[in-house]
Amino acid sequence: MDASAARSILAIDLGGTQIRAAHVSPDLRVTCRRAVATNDEEGVESVIERVQTLGREVLGDALQGGLEPPVGIGISSPGPLDPWRGVVLAPPNLAGWHDVPLAAKVGSPLELPAFLERDTNVAMMAEWRYGAARDAHDAVYVTVSTGIGGGIIANGRPLIGLDGSAGEVGHLTVELDGPDCGDGSPGHVEAIGSGTAIAREGRALLAAGVAPELAALASHPADVTAELVGLAADAGDTACRAVLDRAWLALGAMCAGLVNLLNPEVIVLGGSIALHRPELKDAVRREIDRRAFPLPARRVRVELAQLGDDVSLIGLLPIVNDRLQDPAYAKEHS
Ligand SMILES: [Zn+2]
Repeated sequence: MDASAARSILAIDLGGTQIRAAHVSPDLRVTCRRAVATNDEEGVESVIERVQTLGREVLGDALQGGLEPPVGIGISSPGPLDPWRGVVLAPPNLAGWHDVPLAAKVGSPLELPAFLERDTNVAMMAEWRYGAARDAHDAVYVTVSTGIGGGIIANGRPLIGLDGSAGEVGHLTVELDGPDCGDGSPGHVEAIGSGTAIAREGRALLAAGVAPELAALASHPADVTAELVGLAADAGDTACRAVLDRAWLALGAMCAGLVNLLNPEVIVLGGSIALHRPELKDAVRREIDRRAFPLPARRVRVELAQLGDDVSLIGLLPIVNDRLQDPAYAKEHS
């Protein structure tokens, strides 16, 4: 995309807990923000209605405020999804969603072209165009929070894959007989290094009565979160410390594998856990130096994400503009 040719968009971030929408202009100003709870337990149709309503409200605010009218709508959603057809397939954190043509359902009533992309690819796009991976020819974005996700820039462009699932780094196997992942496979890094996995291990320690500092913070297993396991480890709880060390080791080994596989210039670590536990970045650096080929290991930079919560809105700006300017799209809609 030629940056000077970029036009404003309507950006929508469909998350498991919240739907956010805003007007995003080419100078990266995010305005006319609105948000509403997702409440996916109320069913697919009511979530779609909330997305449509939010989009219509932001569009109204933007036009009333004299902003540049959006040329299109970008929608960030949990995967798996088909970015080419604009269809949400079956995300684990959107209950009941199967093959929902979200782009068409949001774009048609607002009479704007709408495009869908996986949330982690949107975040990667933001960090690549404007953040920690700016100008990199080859880069990997890894987000560590409730789950583990990612996105890849290879040869100067996003790697999307045949079905749109490229970059799902959280589902690389790091322990052949490790714990089961949410998708049923054993030993994926998400089953060891994610917030969900850390909390699960914390609950097991609490039940076994071997984590005194954690017991002082959480009286009931249901109260255990990854954050509390981290606080207990900081307070000297050796069992909790071991859970975190194993999580960081799994993530570091995964990143070392990515270095050997992709030879990136930079690995960007985002997500609430990566941003709140600085020792994760150190562990990733250490395991890359220990496990990856020497030259790629020496050359790769490990950086924290720079753009915060707005990655899922800002990253849609180049995605919508790129797709509108894609000759294949132009041909189909001429
Ligand atoms: Zn998995």
